[in-house]
Amino acid sequence: MKRKGALIVISGFSGAGKGTLVKRIVNECDNLSLSISMTTRSPREGEVNGREYFFVTKEEFEAAIKEDALIEHANYVGNYYGTPKKYVEEQLNEGKDVILEIEIQGALQIKEKFNDAVLVFVTPPSAEILRNRLVSRGTETIEVINNRMKRAYEESDFIEKYDYLLINDDLDICVDRMKNLIDAFHHAPSCNEEFTKQFKEDLKAFK
Ligand code: 5GP
Repeated sequence: MKRKGALIVISGFSGAGKGTLVKRIVNECDNLSLSISMTTRSPREGEVNGREYFFVTKEEFEAAIKEDALIEHANYVGNYYGTPKKYVEEQLNEGKDVILEIEIQGALQIKEKFNDAVLVFVTPPSAEILRNRLVSRGTETIEVINNRMKRAYEESDFIEKYDYLLINDDLDICVDRMKNLIDAFHHAPSCNEEFTKQFKEDLKAFK
């Protein structure tokens, strides 16, 4: 019987390891599709249009907003980011689970539109570890790292709006916890509406 797909939203501080977590989940879960976002930021080295993001101009992005082609969008450090509506709706209608890796403003828009979306916030075990991870990446200047830490402080106000908090102390454990959260969603009545309706119908014969 057809089951509704879960819409899973992952956010987290820059340096929380959410990118790696999402990659693992996508590789290890059969029925899961990753949504590719649209952005106006320039591709980083190694990024491919249509794989990491759909890289578009500001005009193209604004046209997508006007045409109501995005289910959410936000401005993040001077660039637009948004989730294309068509793909997400198609996948959910096919019973696939869909994962979005997006920042907080977008996540909150998703929760307003899809009240059974599962919002997961990923964080390292402590602020100190967060800073150490950013330093050891070696890709950012101290100024950028300090800005990211300031931003993390501002973002921490919104953690309570999420359904789940995943503390990323060990990636394998974190991946398992994430799989359990997705599995739990599949046991919600809202995910099995067809089953519940049919069961109720069948019970009529025994009234
Ligand atoms: P980056 O430029 O490092 O790839 O991403 C910057 C931030 O934008 C990250 O927090 C990422 O999760 C977020 N982001 C990526 N795609 C989207 C999207 O479609 N919508 C929103 N709201 N945020 C996104």
